[in-house]
Formats: sequence, C-alpha cells, structure tokens
Amino acid sequence: MSFDIAFPQTIDEAVSANENGARWFAGGTDLIPEFKSGFVRATRWVNLKRVHELRGIRVTNEGVHIGALATLAEIAENETIRKNYRALAQACSLSASPQIRNVGTIGGNLNQDSRCAYYRSGFPCLLRGGEKCFMRDGENREAAVIGYRDCVHVHPSDPANALVAFDARIVVRGREGEREISAQELFRAPDTKDTRINVLNADEMITEIVLPRVPENTRSAYVKAMDRAAWTFALASVALKFEIQNSKLENVCVVLGGVAPIPYREFRVEKALSGVEWNEESVTQGDYAVLGDAQPLAHNRYKIRLARGVLKRALRELLANE
Ligand SMILES: Cc1cc2nc3c(=O)[nH]c(=O)nc-3n(C[C@H](O)[C@H](O)[C@H](O)COP(=O)(O)OP(=O)(O)OC[C@H]3O[C@@H](n4cnc5c(N)ncnc54)[C@H](O)[C@@H]3O)c2cc1C
Repeated sequence: MSFDIAFPQTIDEAVSANENGARWFAGGTDLIPEFKSGFVRATRWVNLKRVHELRGIRVTNEGVHIGALATLAEIAENETIRKNYRALAQACSLSASPQIRNVGTIGGNLNQDSRCAYYRSGFPCLLRGGEKCFMRDGENREAAVIGYRDCVHVHPSDPANALVAFDARIVVRGREGEREISAQELFRAPDTKDTRINVLNADEMITEIVLPRVPENTRSAYVKAMDRAAWTFALASVALKFEIQNSKLENVCVVLGGVAPIPYREFRVEKALSGVEWNEESVTQGDYAVLGDAQPLAHNRYKIRLARGVLKRALRELLANE
C-alpha cells in the first residue's frame, strides 16, 4: 500500500496537512504496529517530529506545560514533575519498556488505540464497526469491570490516570481552531452509536498538556499491578493524590486504571478518605469499598481485590516516604 508523509514545521502547517483521513505520526510505537497489521489504512501520515512548538516541558506561573512530543522518559525524568506531580512521573516510568518510553510521546500515548486482544487480532468487533463486543462473553480476564457500555475494553494509558488526578487540561488544535479538554473528559466509553475511545476529532492534534500548580502539601503516588513485573499494561492501577491539611487528608483524588474504558474516578472512596488522619492506623484500615459498584464479567472479578490492593499499596508507600 502506498502512502505519503508530510513533514510540517509548525502547528499551523501540520493542521493544514491533515486532510483526507490523514493520521498524526509521533513516535510510531503504536501507529506502525497497527499499520503493519493492516488496521491503519490512511494514505497520508503527518509526521510531527519537526514541529518544535510541540516539544519540551516548561514551568510557568500557571503550572507545568508538557509539549505533546515530550517522551514518556522525559516526563518521568523531569525534576519538577518528579517533585510536584510524582504520580505522573511514576505512571510514565511504569509504562511500556525503556525503549518505548524513549520514543513514545505523551500525545501518542493519550491517543493510542485499544489493546483489546479481539480488536487487535482483527475480530469484526464493535470497535471495528461490527455489531458485537467479543470480549464481553469471551476471554474477558482483562476487560472492564465498571463504567463500560457496549464494549468492555479498558483504556491502556497509565499517564492518563495521573493526568486526571492532577486535573490536567489537554490543549488540542484542529481545523476549527483550538480547544481545551479536561483530562477527565478526554476519554469515553465506546458504544454502538459512537465507537471512539476519546473525544478527539480525526483532524485534532494534542498540542500540550497543562498541569495546574499544586500546593506544597500535595502527595501523590501511582501503583500498578501487572501480569509480570514490567513492560505490560495495567490489570489494575491507581493514581492517588491528596493534600495534607492539619494532619488530615483533603482534596483527595483516586483514579483507577485498567478497570474501565476511561480513567475511573472513585468519588465515593475520595469522600471516605477525606478528613481521615494521616497515619498508618487510620488510613490503611478500611477497603473504602473500592469498586463497590463494579459489574464484573465471568473472569475478571479478581480486579476488584486488585484495585483495593493497589490503593492500599499507594497509601502505604506515601506513608513510608513521610
Ligand atoms: C509493547 C508495548 C507496551 C506498552 N505498554 C504500555 C503501558 O504499560 N502503559 C501505557 O500507558 N502505554 C503503553 N504502551 C503504549 C505506548 O506508551 C504508546 O505506544 C506510545 O506512548 C505512543 O506514543 P507514540 O509517540 O509512539 O505514538 P504514535 O504511535 O506515533 O501514535 C499513536 C496514536 O496517537 C496519534 N497521535 C500521535 N501524536 C498525537 C498528537 N499529538 N495528538 C493526537 N494524536 C496523536 C497517532 O495518530 C496514533 O493514532 C505500550 C506500547 C507497546 C508497544
């Protein structure tokens, strides 16, 4: 199959170059395998690598601005992010493998495709425009246990969970101009009417991610449970963030990964943890009914216990660091 590649130098040029169903190309770690499998049929790729405006990590009065071309490794190693947005640095360093983290960008990570095994093997499933989700009644060990509609895939991005916890804003640019989307609202559960896994339009590119400033008394952690120790996607994970005020937890944010088609905010657990004394005895006592509303499938009930476990591990890890 033949295709052409555009090499724009600016964001404006990139947006103009994106026509006839073109695809953005950043690190290519997700796009190239999909192309090789025959799932991506775009005849035009817009290579973003020469667009310098999309690079770098800047600290301003507003917070931290992460260019869409920042690699996962750059984010994981950035000093400000490690200090003030620790869960994000950890989520990036727990993603994929060193090689992929050195090449894969945050823009591509947030817009990466589903990892559902049926979808990736070419089954004519709902995400591929078919009528049914094969995972729901099939091998559903890795499927969602909550927040799903007609398709039970889980969103594969680790950094996404941390970005939701920090209330990040995603700046996107397309033919209609620029808009900002909160990280929470970027992702969606696919259904028969709309099979998109996020709300980006085909012509829209992520240009940067803005992390609002956090108070100094903020603590955060990202804990991920996997089938093996590294280089794979989360079975369950948590991005936990809170502030310590008068020795108590306040402004708690608990975002679960690997359990839903979106980064899943556990509002009830956030409420249960709010106001709790910041010490081991108080904080690690309950399971806070994590995933209390889950609707597990035949083979994935274990994810509920796993999610409870990762939350406890995150709390213990933060206590140990005090
Ligand atoms: C073996 C393996 C293991 C992995 N494990 C993990 C993991 O544990 N956790 C995790 O979070 N991820 C994991 N990943 C995914 C990996 O992080 C992504 O593949 C990578 O971050 C994508 O970035 P990229 O720059 O290579 O994107 P590309 O492959 O270039 O693009 C991916 C998609 O995003 C689009 N895109 C690229 N840039 C932009 C932009 N600026 N705006 C909008 N759309 C854009 C492309 O058109 C394409 O659809 C894994 C991947 C592999 C191959």
